[in-house]
Amino acid sequence: MYEKLIIDHSKNPRNFGELADPSIEVVEENPVCGDLIKLQLRIKNGIIQEIKFSGHGCAISVSSASMMTEATNGKSVATVRTRLSGFNSMLQGDSNVGSLPGDLAVFRVVRKFPVRIKCALLPWSALRRALEMHHEER
Ligand code: ZN
Repeated sequence: MYEKLIIDHSKNPRNFGELADPSIEVVEENPVCGDLIKLQLRIKNGIIQEIKFSGHGCAISVSSASMMTEATNGKSVATVRTRLSGFNSMLQGDSNVGSLPGDLAVFRVVRKFPVRIKCALLPWSALRRALEMHHEER
């Protein structure tokens, strides 16, 4: 039903676990599906130095979180904001999604399953809140 890459990331999630010294921590839930994600980041000098997630959820939410951490780890906050809006646009059906890393495009398939769109967006919503908190800290 889903692409190979999604299955792979859901079975072997990257950056799964907890950070020893996160500067930001966000918990986001999708009660419709029962997904729960805890996202932890360490941001310094405008760069996401480390990002990890834990929690539980369906294949879509876990693989989305896994690929999101790969697409944001070590990147500048500015780059991450661009990817965040690109990913949201893609799931809303916009064809112009800007410079989204290739792997993330597999989530286009989710548009065929509207109930799963929230699952795919969950980790990115957590990331948006994390970036808002980072902004407040400055
Ligand atoms: Zn889900």
